[in-house]
Amino acid sequence: MTSLAALQALERAHVVPAYARQPVQFVRGEGARLWDADGVEYLDFQTGLAVTSLGHSHPAVVAAIQQQAAQLVHVGNLFYSEPGMRLAERLARSALGGGGKVHFANSGTEANEAALKVARKAKPQGTIVSVHRGFHGRTYGSLSATPQEAKQAPFAPLVPGFVAVAPTAAAVAGAVDAQTAAVILEPVQGESGVWVLDDELLQAARAACDEHGAALIFDEVQCGLGRTGTLWAYEDSGVVPDLMTTAKALGGGLPIGALICSPRYADVFAAGDHGSTFAGGPVPCAAALAVLDVVEDPALLARVRALGERLAEGLAALPGVVDVRGRGLMLACDFADGGAPELVRRALTEQRLVVNATGPATLRLLPPLTIGDEHVDDVLQRLRALL
Ligand SMILES: *Cc1c(COP(=O)(O)O)cnc(C)c1O
Repeated sequence: MTSLAALQALERAHVVPAYARQPVQFVRGEGARLWDADGVEYLDFQTGLAVTSLGHSHPAVVAAIQQQAAQLVHVGNLFYSEPGMRLAERLARSALGGGGKVHFANSGTEANEAALKVARKAKPQGTIVSVHRGFHGRTYGSLSATPQEAKQAPFAPLVPGFVAVAPTAAAVAGAVDAQTAAVILEPVQGESGVWVLDDELLQAARAACDEHGAALIFDEVQCGLGRTGTLWAYEDSGVVPDLMTTAKALGGGLPIGALICSPRYADVFAAGDHGSTFAGGPVPCAAALAVLDVVEDPALLARVRALGERLAEGLAALPGVVDVRGRGLMLACDFADGGAPELVRRALTEQRLVVNATGPATLRLLPPLTIGDEHVDDVLQRLRALL
């Protein structure tokens, strides 16, 4: 096997330095466990950033991928294949009260691009309202709805017609007018450190969109698919969006995204308006069908809520922790003295624990949804040992 040092040399010579990698080469995964090239075992509470929500190499996902790959890998969107049509049916039935339609993409940012294009086509020249601390992706439309100076500034000028306001009910209500095409929000903001948006904010956005004929878009790329203890995060608030995007965990590790449109927006795109060579391919869709079979189980969702409470209580009791935020198994904690990036590095090397930091003082935990009490107790013990 190629050594870590050799991989690092290859990276230095040949890979654009757009990522800051930790010095570990993972070679195998099973459930909540990962193994590096030396055979050392790790506990994974990061899941590739909310992607491997069923744990690594879940047997149902592996079987679905193997079976579909052996049968047909790609045919494109000029023909039919069953997994994509079946997945669209499942997703449309699962969300927004049913009766909507689905458009496939290959990632979260692409699903959001599709949502923004639907909203703009429905209201030509319309503006898009987003909120601070939001994250919607790195392509130009999604980036234009991601009001973070460090991510946007080097790539200016961005797409025109985007407005960013504070994540409050009053600010969002005040920003929506007759020119607004859409408001885009994460019901639980992930990348900026797990901030649950108030029901009041979501309700105000819904009312403003209704009043002015704008589309309410919920980006559930990270918080959806059972992560917060309901299949879709919006269910907890009772506020139903017009357009919703999903990706990360959908393919069990394979790249896939989807836009779910309520009936009002379901036929805005006509043939030729938007598309993608790979989107809706049979292998990622087969994997996603297997993922849905697992995460739609009410018993799993109830366990996510119970485990989330146990984990949140444990985090709050750790030395130096001043705030615990989140819902279900999408949690973050803040430390009074900062040091989160250093803690993440030490967690990996000293405790063989995979977690990540969303800022100088914030640790984020995104474990597999399939863990048990023993994994929660284990992660708390490892963190306590570090602190
Ligand atoms: C990760 C993320 C995205 C972008 O998804 P990619 O698959 O990386 O393009 C968009 N929105 C949210 C909320 C995310 O967490």
